[in-house]
Amino acid sequence: MALEYRQKPSLSKLTTLELGGTAEVEIVIRQENDLDELAEFILSEKLRPMVIGWGSNLLCSDGHHDLALISVESPSAPDRVEQQGDTLVFRAGAGMRLPGVLGWAQKAGLTGMENLAGIPGSVGGAIAMNAGSYGAEIKDMVRRVRLWTPSQGLFWKDVNECGWGYRHFDPKIGFPKCIVWEVEMALKESTPKAVRKNMQDVYDRKKVTQPVTAKSAGCIFKNPEGESAGKLLDQAGFRGRGLGKVAFSEMHANFLVNLGGGVSADALELIKQARQSVKENFGINLETEVIFI
Ligand SMILES: Cc1cc2nc3c(=O)[nH]c(=O)nc-3n(C[C@H](O)[C@H](O)[C@H](O)COP(=O)(O)OP(=O)(O)OC[C@H]3O[C@@H](n4cnc5c(N)ncnc54)[C@H](O)[C@@H]3O)c2cc1C
Repeated sequence: MALEYRQKPSLSKLTTLELGGTAEVEIVIRQENDLDELAEFILSEKLRPMVIGWGSNLLCSDGHHDLALISVESPSAPDRVEQQGDTLVFRAGAGMRLPGVLGWAQKAGLTGMENLAGIPGSVGGAIAMNAGSYGAEIKDMVRRVRLWTPSQGLFWKDVNECGWGYRHFDPKIGFPKCIVWEVEMALKESTPKAVRKNMQDVYDRKKVTQPVTAKSAGCIFKNPEGESAGKLLDQAGFRGRGLGKVAFSEMHANFLVNLGGGVSADALELIKQARQSVKENFGINLETEVIFI
């Protein structure tokens, strides 16, 4: 099957915050055979390539962007690779949704990734962001990552060669132009019942502290060393603070929410004000976690 080209896609429709203008094109890629055509496109066109997953960590500005968005679609279930004692090694495609991998692991009675319950997004996006919560990060479960660049094609990188950090992944090969194609992970055997309970506990905890069903991109700022960005924003008076149709959530001051019909200009202004206020009040420079387009 050839690549699919979708002209002038709406960024607000491709992101969970539902903000932003349009890109030039979205290219959907479904199988390895399509990658040669993608390389030709990237090398010949003047557009800036950018991989997009579920769009759950993106804040896109209004207007038109000369971007070629690249989306990976993958099979909807992981592949078992091998059993090593009480550990199962499996592979998941970058386009698979992270909650789908958690659901599969729960049914298979595999433990180790329960703390990631409630994180939306794709497997590729989770790797690119080293997504994590409650002390766990996706890197903890990874054995190796299969990457692609237009010049090198597909190749594996061992987990130790991926330059992980807090919401950071840098395998030092021209990222962000490399695509995470698939990931090999390892989880230990438990029981479906025990894994379900752990996941439910994590999700229940998030439901009472985060606006999990609102239009958001998760946390706007990273937690500074030894501090909580949400707490600093709260103390600076930003819990519930709004501009136009966007606001910092009443539930969690580090979540910016589109109340419906919001515009990026207001979101960016609010973020600027919040950062300035935290700097003035506490002398701390907040670093953004969300990716700006
Ligand atoms: C309600 C809510 C709760 C959240 N909670 C958490 C949380 O607890 N912890 C946490 O870490 N995050 C959280 N997030 C943020 C977000 O879900 C994660 O960062 C997620 O991993 C992003 O995945 P995505 O597929 O949506 O990536 P996108 O938002 O589409 O992209 C994010 C970045 O990853 C890159 N990327 C995406 N796919 C690929 C690929 N295949 N190859 C190379 N690069 C790629 C993009 O270029 C971009 O730079 C939350 C978001 C929401 C909306």
